[in-house]
Amino acid sequence: MLNSILTKEQLMPDDLLYLLKLTNEADLEKLFAASYAVKEQHVGTKAYFRGLIELSNICVKDCYYCGIRKGNKQVPRFETSVTEALELAQWAYDNEYGSVVLQSGERQDSAFVQTISHLISGIKEIGASPGLGITLCLGEQTPETYREWFKLGAHRYLLRIETSNKKLYKQLHPNDGTHSFEQRVDCLTELSKIGYQVGTGVMIGLPGQTEEDLVNDILFYEKMDIAMVGMGPYVVHKDTPMGGDVIQNGLDTEEERAKRLTTSLKMIAATRLYLKDINIAATTALQALHPLGREMGLKAGANILMPIITLPAYRSQYQLYDNKPCIDDTAEKCKECLTGRVLSTGDSIGFGEWGDSVHFNSQSRH
Ligand code: SAH
Repeated sequence: MLNSILTKEQLMPDDLLYLLKLTNEADLEKLFAASYAVKEQHVGTKAYFRGLIELSNICVKDCYYCGIRKGNKQVPRFETSVTEALELAQWAYDNEYGSVVLQSGERQDSAFVQTISHLISGIKEIGASPGLGITLCLGEQTPETYREWFKLGAHRYLLRIETSNKKLYKQLHPNDGTHSFEQRVDCLTELSKIGYQVGTGVMIGLPGQTEEDLVNDILFYEKMDIAMVGMGPYVVHKDTPMGGDVIQNGLDTEEERAKRLTTSLKMIAATRLYLKDINIAATTALQALHPLGREMGLKAGANILMPIITLPAYRSQYQLYDNKPCIDDTAEKCKECLTGRVLSTGDSIGFGEWGDSVHFNSQSRH
């Protein structure tokens, strides 16, 4: 059964379900070998670096799973200045990272929107053309804001749907008028219309999430014709309502965490086999569950890494989940460490290249 699925030209939803239910080590190895071969054929084995700048943990949202939710009073709030952020971007350029990602807690006020606009303009002035690629991960914004940032030179946007199951989405977020599944989908549609390379993704191993939900997540990526997927395991943050419940219900054991890691790797592999030429990130959360989590992600079919270049002073305050790796590191240390890790998998690194989505480029040619 497994062999016949892995040699199919195009998988069906039932095949995806079968793959997500695999548990046997030898079967998993076969799965990852097959997804790595599809990555090699469709996007190549160069991993692209996007230097991640975590700008601020100030957030207007109250997501039950997230460590920087507005309701978490334990965490001191910080904001990176434009000058500091531009220095980090310059470092990324000097170190031949092709792109930067600007990520932040969510705010829609005009001071925030303008700060980001200044920052995008400033980053575009760094280095010789085409300079750094810019990915934004700044949550839900108005169409006007999305358009302004695109006009200034941001060209990719990552907005995770978190789960494509509406009922589960409701359980993950308070019913306070600011968290709507439909609105998030509308944002993704708007971003595509504007011309961004749009990325989305989900958390894997959420309480109450089934393998069928995960299959539907992959079908959601297909339906939205996304260029990029950034998904990873759900990782407990103890000072959140959801994390507290999971701990109390005895569901944050070694065994449960290992399961969330394996399911995440199976999701990367199944998504690669199904969608072939999109970009897929090996996310930092993989490493929160296993020291070699990101390398395992590359082996399972991912081709993008987001090394953290956030100012060391702010790193410990940007903890979306517990055990976040690299919080005591500097950008130099992260570069050295990740470079070694990538080369150990047999992949190479696309230094100085944007590494845009092959899928997006081939779509826009037609
Ligand atoms: N405010 C931005 C950036 C959010 S942080 C936005 O809404 O897009 C980026 C991602 O971190 C979120 O989309 C979520 O999927 C992930 N995240 C948050 N808490 C997490 C947790 N406890 N475990 C794993 N991933 C988490």
